Amino acid sequence: MRENAINQQADDIYILPLLALPPGKFIFPHTNSILVPDKPQSVNAVKYALTRGGNILLLNQRTADKPGVKLEDFCEIGVVARITEHVEKSGSLRLIVEGITRAVFLAFFETDDFIQAKVQIVPENIYRSRTVISLMKDVVAAFEKYLEARKKIRPTDSITVIPKTEDPGILADVIAASIAAYTDYQSERFQEILETFGPKERLEKLLNILNEEIELLKVDSQIEGKVREQMHKHQKEFYLFEKMKAIQKELGRGGQDPVTECEELRKKVKEVKMSAEAEEKALHEIDRLEQIPPMSAESGVIRTYVDYLIALPWSTRTECKIDINEAERMLNEDHYGLEKPKERILEYLAVLRLTDKLKGPILCFIGPPGVGKTSLGKSIARATNRTFVRMSLGGVRDEAEIRGHRRTYIGSIPGRIIQGIIDSKSKNPLFLLDEVDKMSMDFRGDPASALLEVLDPEQNNTFRDHYLDVAFDLSEVMFITTGNVLQAIPPALRDRMEVIELPGYTEYEKKKIAELFLVPKQLEANGLKKDSAVFSEDTIQSIIQEYTREAGVRNLEREISSICRKVAKKIVKDGASEEPIKVSKENIKEYLGIPKFNHGKAEEHDEIGVATGLAFTEVGGDIISIEATTMAGEGELKLTGRLGEVMQESAQTALSYIRSKAGELKLPSDFNFDKKDIHIHVPAGAQPKEGPSAGITIATAMISALTARPVSRDVAMTGEITLRGRVLPIGGLKEKVLAAHRAGIKNIIIPKENEKDLADIPEEIKNSFEFYQVENMDTVLEIALKDSPELKGSPNAS
Ligand code: ADP
Repeated sequence: MRENAINQQADDIYILPLLALPPGKFIFPHTNSILVPDKPQSVNAVKYALTRGGNILLLNQRTADKPGVKLEDFCEIGVVARITEHVEKSGSLRLIVEGITRAVFLAFFETDDFIQAKVQIVPENIYRSRTVISLMKDVVAAFEKYLEARKKIRPTDSITVIPKTEDPGILADVIAASIAAYTDYQSERFQEILETFGPKERLEKLLNILNEEIELLKVDSQIEGKVREQMHKHQKEFYLFEKMKAIQKELGRGGQDPVTECEELRKKVKEVKMSAEAEEKALHEIDRLEQIPPMSAESGVIRTYVDYLIALPWSTRTECKIDINEAERMLNEDHYGLEKPKERILEYLAVLRLTDKLKGPILCFIGPPGVGKTSLGKSIARATNRTFVRMSLGGVRDEAEIRGHRRTYIGSIPGRIIQGIIDSKSKNPLFLLDEVDKMSMDFRGDPASALLEVLDPEQNNTFRDHYLDVAFDLSEVMFITTGNVLQAIPPALRDRMEVIELPGYTEYEKKKIAELFLVPKQLEANGLKKDSAVFSEDTIQSIIQEYTREAGVRNLEREISSICRKVAKKIVKDGASEEPIKVSKENIKEYLGIPKFNHGKAEEHDEIGVATGLAFTEVGGDIISIEATTMAGEGELKLTGRLGEVMQESAQTALSYIRSKAGELKLPSDFNFDKKDIHIHVPAGAQPKEGPSAGITIATAMISALTARPVSRDVAMTGEITLRGRVLPIGGLKEKVLAAHRAGIKNIIIPKENEKDLADIPEEIKNSFEFYQVENMDTVLEIALKDSPELKGSPNAS
């Protein structure tokens, strides 16, 4: 262009002072603009121009940030303009300039004060082809649309008038100037319009720009709409919240200001000295809390979460100590008997004391309810100066109950372990996990494996509850577990435990516990003085025998408590008397009603078809009477009394044994198994029973029924039977012997292989029995069955 221009005639070449435009500013021919030149060179150029009629060259620089010093630093095409007005006010110059025509910038030469430019005027092509006219219409229509869209976003903008001109070039320039004034990006697009001489091409380029701008404005307006909507919502919530505060204030229950609330939470977070991870998380949540409306559901969720974090005893602990003598004193102070368990506990504590770590196995107390498992746990806590917390795992079948639900679930809370720790208010409590044998597993994950992690000293220093999602150190917690039946504890857990068995109390022990511990405790608990009621020895015995039937002392304590309440009522009603109130064997019915039990006692007479067995259940040992009878039928074996599968099989085995030995057993010669039904019933009928240890008892009852030989009433027995009549060993011997003792039985038949277990049984109990250790069924029958004169007849043949 420049080269061509130089070759043209000299009458359209001018020398004009040059004013470099600030970046992003575009001036088109046929438009007016305001300019405020500030650089000395520009000001001088303006001043010079004013002395020569006011014409000046307005030129954009290619490099916006540094002043032009070479020809290439400036754009090639500029606008020749006339300064129509100028005002100089307090040192700054303001101009109104009117663009006249495009010009090619050919050369420059610097004077001392400003730049002089040599330019060639570009003549405007005003030819209007049909295409141009239609383009002009399109541009105007698009411009109208553009203005419409712009008005939505910036309704305050000055009104832009659509130019009324027939000249396509001028139309394009004026509209381009109007858009350029409002757009501050992609300014090279406007320079391009300036450099496009042909009006058709100029209009086409402009149309593109217009369409692009319209699209952009549409997007803008959508965003704007959303922002406004959001703002209205916030304003509304803010208004309502303020109003609510005012109402609460009016009602005198000033709600807490959310800002102060957050500040207080932050303060508390700092105070409780969390782990760095937890603190960061808590503060982050508080920041979020600050930004959401205080009444929203989410803010409640966040607050609960932060409250849990704050409530955890991050750095609160009691000063633990282990003094073996002191511990022994306390264990004895709280418990009668239990010599062996106490000994084991003290050994355990001694090892702890020496290793100074809780890395060893976990203590596990196994025994029926009410034998003092919890209360031993409490004593250990007292002896080691730890706070005590107890949590039952009975019925837990979901891993999440141990470890919590993730916070994504509505209403989720931490798991039981973390809740227990919060309840204990200490980082190093004694945590008693009750009923570990009652956990079950289902599709929601295995709680036992979660528990394993809790108990594992290698892992539990960074225990991660799903809800909290931050690590908490459980390594200082002393865990103790309890359960009723060892076999029911998942093997992986059992391996981690040091099992201490508490088999249940003898009647003598129960009497002592009641006298020394339960009665004084219940008198005090019910507000009675020590001497306001006396329980004689046989009263206690009668409570034990007639009102309770248990291996532990839980119900015994309950019955004593019930008597104490009634005594208290009597004293309050009738006034305190000098004489203590006597609870005796004679008047006990007034307090406890009629006796609840006469089971658990030996049969009163020798009977046919009834044998006494010994059972071992979750609640300790018990005696059971097994009944058998025969009747005309089709050779069926009927079993009732909710017998478990194994027990039913035992009965089948016993029957097969009897059939195979019919001759030796001296069954009536005309006895036909195919025409007789045999019915076996084990009371109490509603209680489920299981296990093979009743085998020999079932067989004895059946043989007694079939041969009409009565069973000796003071013989109890336990043992599994094989098809050949061998007697196999059983479990829970100690508990069974205690039950037989309670029932006043004198003779016990046990499998020979259980002989070793007799060592565990207290001497005084052992001495009250005659033990028969047997290997086969023949011996059992010899001991248990009596000869009957009726044997000669055939009572079952009818
Ligand atoms: P468990 O946890 O085994 O079911 P608890 O520890 O709750 O049983 O005992 C029940 C009640 O019997 C408690 O009040 C406890 O103090 C008392 N108790 C149990 N065994 C003894 C004992 N050997 N000496 C004194 N009190 C006992």
